[in-house]
Amino acid sequence: MGVKVTALSGGVGGARMLRGFAALEDVDLTAIVNVGDDDVIYGLHVSPDIDTVIYTLAGQEGLAGWGVRDDTVAVMTALDRFPIDTWFRIGDIDFATNLFRTARLQAGWTLSQVTTAEAAVFGVEATVLPASDDPIRTQVHVPGEGWLPFQHYFVDRQHLSPVDDVRFVGVDRARPAPGVLQAIEDADLIVIGPSNPPLSIWPILAIADVADTLVEARRVVAVSPLIDGRPLKGPADKVMEGLGLPAGTAGVVAAYEGILDELVVDSVDRSDTEVDLGVRIRALPTRIGAVEAAATLASQLLEE
Ligand code: GDP
Ligand code: CA
Repeated sequence: MGVKVTALSGGVGGARMLRGFAALEDVDLTAIVNVGDDDVIYGLHVSPDIDTVIYTLAGQEGLAGWGVRDDTVAVMTALDRFPIDTWFRIGDIDFATNLFRTARLQAGWTLSQVTTAEAAVFGVEATVLPASDDPIRTQVHVPGEGWLPFQHYFVDRQHLSPVDDVRFVGVDRARPAPGVLQAIEDADLIVIGPSNPPLSIWPILAIADVADTLVEARRVVAVSPLIDGRPLKGPADKVMEGLGLPAGTAGVVAAYEGILDELVVDSVDRSDTEVDLGVRIRALPTRIGAVEAAATLASQLLEE
């Protein structure tokens, strides 16, 4: 039995952090993954963050930030000839994952059961838990337009529209998936990966009892997704600004108010360690695209 690490994750940023812990010996790793990005596309239940986590832990993540690396696109190419919107691209191997998920859900499996089976197919040893087995659908509010489903905003519009509010439809009725609260209670260390705070982590924190259980946890550390105030990819800074959060490190602390014991910022933001934001701030190299860099950061997070 190693040290128990439980990590909250969205897609790319969180998955990179998870891969760092998975590379360490004597770490018993559990991932609690956002399901607010889930949707039904071409009749299939897609869970983009769960898939990104599993493909990344398997070393097979697509380089564009979704899907499987070097996947072929025969199905998409054929589908493009039909009168249907095809802005949501899915590769052939990725289609198989989504077909399996949809078929099993229709046969009565829970999303947790599907995810466990998927992780096994990809040879992933970490425990991967959907944050909830119940439907949660993130929507963003675009001024003058109204509420947009997450994938329409993120993929179809390439997250270019301004956002002034977010909501997680269904979260009032959603329960944490089996094992989620236990994994938070049992952890020696909780890590909130460098995921988009409002879009990837809030839909997890909004589930009943999750935030309360985190407050009681032994040690909760977040890694900032912002480096010098900017995300490496995606709209985290713009969305945080649109929601009225402060810019940069202060905004990340505010997004996780009451939950963090410590925030890790990138070495370039070292000056933030001298600002009193009410939590310990530590500066470390946080560019973790390479697995070695992710493992180094993971081992540093294990040190108090
Ligand atoms: P998504 O679901 O794929 O959008 O993924 P996440 O919400 O998990 O991750 C998006 C965030 O990851 C962005 O805000 C990026 O800035 C952050 N990110 C990606 N790679 C890295 C990295 O190597 N280091 C840090 N610090 N942040 C990263
Ligand atoms: Ca996502």
